Amino acid sequence: MKLSVVVPCYNEEQVIEETYGRLDAVVRAITPDYELIFVDDGSKDRTAIILKSICDRHGHVRVIRLARNFGQQNALAAGLAAATGDAAVIIDADLQDPPEVIADFVAKWREGYAVVVGQRLERPKETLFKRVSAYLFYRLMNRLSEVPLHLDAGDFRLLDRKVLDTLNEMPERYRLLRGMISWVGLSQAAVPYKRAPRFAGSTKYSLSKMVGLALDGLFSFSTVPLRAMSFIGLATFVLALGGIGYAIVLRLATNQWVPGWTAMFVAQLLLGSLNMLGLGLLGEYVGRIYGEAKQRPLFVVAERFQSGEEAYAAAARSVPAQSIRAGESAIS
Ligand code: UDP
Ligand code: MG
Repeated sequence: MKLSVVVPCYNEEQVIEETYGRLDAVVRAITPDYELIFVDDGSKDRTAIILKSICDRHGHVRVIRLARNFGQQNALAAGLAAATGDAAVIIDADLQDPPEVIADFVAKWREGYAVVVGQRLERPKETLFKRVSAYLFYRLMNRLSEVPLHLDAGDFRLLDRKVLDTLNEMPERYRLLRGMISWVGLSQAAVPYKRAPRFAGSTKYSLSKMVGLALDGLFSFSTVPLRAMSFIGLATFVLALGGIGYAIVLRLATNQWVPGWTAMFVAQLLLGSLNMLGLGLLGEYVGRIYGEAKQRPLFVVAERFQSGEEAYAAAARSVPAQSIRAGESAIS
């Protein structure tokens, strides 16, 4: 049984050494056959240098350095595509997800579950905004999405090889991995755990990245907003018919038709804003169709290295230069 662990890292120079140490100890105790895959998502700090040095000093380590910051979800795609284990664990680099929980994941996996999800019981030291927005997001998504999402679970999870193979065949661009995993189905178990505070450094998820991820999730897994727009459109149309009838009767049967500016004004504002809302909503989907139509790779690998230079050189020689995995672009 081989276990892969995928760690996305973006500007994590302060935590990466500690993370390696704790991860390696935990995983080594579970199985001697393992690989730790660190994906450097275009870090601008010393993350890549530290990873290189970890590679030189220790075994079982592989590093994929992306050409720029492609975002955590794409970094995960790169790591999962490279994983060679019978199962892979995804874990954040900042030790908010305690590596010790991986042992529980593996136990559940051995019971036969294809997906084991880490469920957050507590989120200490995270901002109120983050906790409230996450709480609302998961519940809204569950209402709207075609596949159920685990409440209060992030990307900290274990995936069986079967799930990995399926995910690697899903090269969609606007990714919310947890939604994609729910879409795959198969048997899923949850392991509750207490989320720790970040070991060091600050969050790498800016507000715009967070909003982007939420919108990708919403629009990739639900067409309910579009349908809601149609219903609102229908309702306003019925209202408008009533209004038109009223106006015509007023105009023909009475002589009080000059006033009514208020009604006009309100109706105009209302319908105008609904039009814009509908257009914007359509735009969100059209924009995503445009993005998918471009068929761009999900990430670009700048370089790969792993523990033991000779092993790496031998592996590189045995792979034909043209072979490019689906959804991946190679530069050499
Ligand atoms: N991350 C990444 N690319 C990004 C942003 C974040 O690979 O563009 C990584 C980051 O290094 C960390 C994980 O994704 O390992 C989760 O990020 P973070 O801890 O900053 O998010 P938070 O826990 O605050 O939601
Ligand atoms: Mg974190």
